Amino acid sequence: MRYLVGLILIIVVCGMIINCSPRNARQFLTMNEVEKLSPSTPAKSTKSGKSIKSGKFSTKASVACNEQSNYIPDAAHPEHHQLKLVRVNFHIMRRSNGKGNFSEAEGVKYAKEWLRHTNSHVIKNKKMNLPVGNNTPKLPINYRYVIAGDPNIPGDDGVYFHDDDDLYYFVKTGKNKNNYKKEVIDKYTVQKGKVLNIFMTPHHPDSVVSKTYNPTLTGIAFVREGAIKVAGNYYMHNNPTQVNGKPFNRGAWYCHGVLNHEIGHVLGLNHTWRSNDGCDDTPHHKNCYSQNRKRPECIDGWSNNVMDYNTHQNAWSPCQIGRVQRNFAKKGSTQRALLVPTWCKLNPEQHIRIKDEVTWKGAKDLEGHLTIQSGAKLTVKCRVSLPKNAQITVQQGAELVLDGATLENDCGDKWQGIILEGQGTKRGKVVFVNEPVLMNMENEL
Ligand SMILES: [Zn+2]
Repeated sequence: MRYLVGLILIIVVCGMIINCSPRNARQFLTMNEVEKLSPSTPAKSTKSGKSIKSGKFSTKASVACNEQSNYIPDAAHPEHHQLKLVRVNFHIMRRSNGKGNFSEAEGVKYAKEWLRHTNSHVIKNKKMNLPVGNNTPKLPINYRYVIAGDPNIPGDDGVYFHDDDDLYYFVKTGKNKNNYKKEVIDKYTVQKGKVLNIFMTPHHPDSVVSKTYNPTLTGIAFVREGAIKVAGNYYMHNNPTQVNGKPFNRGAWYCHGVLNHEIGHVLGLNHTWRSNDGCDDTPHHKNCYSQNRKRPECIDGWSNNVMDYNTHQNAWSPCQIGRVQRNFAKKGSTQRALLVPTWCKLNPEQHIRIKDEVTWKGAKDLEGHLTIQSGAKLTVKCRVSLPKNAQITVQQGAELVLDGATLENDCGDKWQGIILEGQGTKRGKVVFVNEPVLMNMENEL
């Protein structure tokens, strides 16, 4: 009887795994095959004299996982980074008679065009102009914006019009100043926390006629609310600067900088020119709006960084990209909540194949399978989410090191598990260091 139960068990187990044939060994990893290593770094003293205990794995891992430099794109392996999609919507604020801002037909067209031009700059990062003579690499920014309507409202295109005499306008100076006020955001935000709400609030007509008020393009970010206010698009559309007798800046294309800048604040970036923005590759400078030969400090000292006030606003430094991507990767962050969860559904085209020796120091949300190819080695030191039904394959002669890593599915589903290929000494190898955590697997160890 015991023999029969054992036989049935073997048949069931073989049915679950892909191939039981020893000639073509390919099976899910079990604890028996895992090689366990003790942490290589023994307890040692830091500069401050505090002792780091090698046993405190989870604390060590979480500190490193939060380190923004670990999220700077790896130029040698750009395909190891996932494109993040930030959901946005637009609110076009008007007077109660529907005037003072774009009409519905114009507004929808303008908002879409504005977003397209704004995206064209995150798609094509520019080399940093400062510091003069720098070698700062120009790396992919790895995020885009998408307009998101409320899926619970049929036909919602994510562009809204509100006619409200009390809240439609923007005033940046004087006793009626309201640029930092949040009433309009509190009243009209749609899909709070899930979508970045962009409010197009025109300058007040009384301000516009004042000789001391500059109704130029300007914006304010409300980081906690996940919202921004922008003023000046409509004024510029109607009162463009004339260059050689032709309107120059009336189009939505001209307003890409303010949108990328204000969204940059919501995604966790700070001004660079005088304060500590948390990045060493964005130097302090004189905040020249553009190159200006009449001001010696502005002949070469002009910035093109997105987080300065300048006419370009089209360069993101590696540290700035790392900072935003760190915020995207951080579970529970306001920035992560704004993303389309592109990491839930398996996309076979996003299969990552490791071909050399690579270490993933930051968290990742994979969208496809992961294969470590023969002769390659992948070390994972942080959280990796795998989409539903995804597999990790460790080919013959390949190595996967899980060093304090967490493998999971972040969408409440299950991923398949880790498959080892090959036989005997050539078999794929999986090494555990610093107590990795493996969760949400169909085929547990
Ligand atoms: Zn700013």
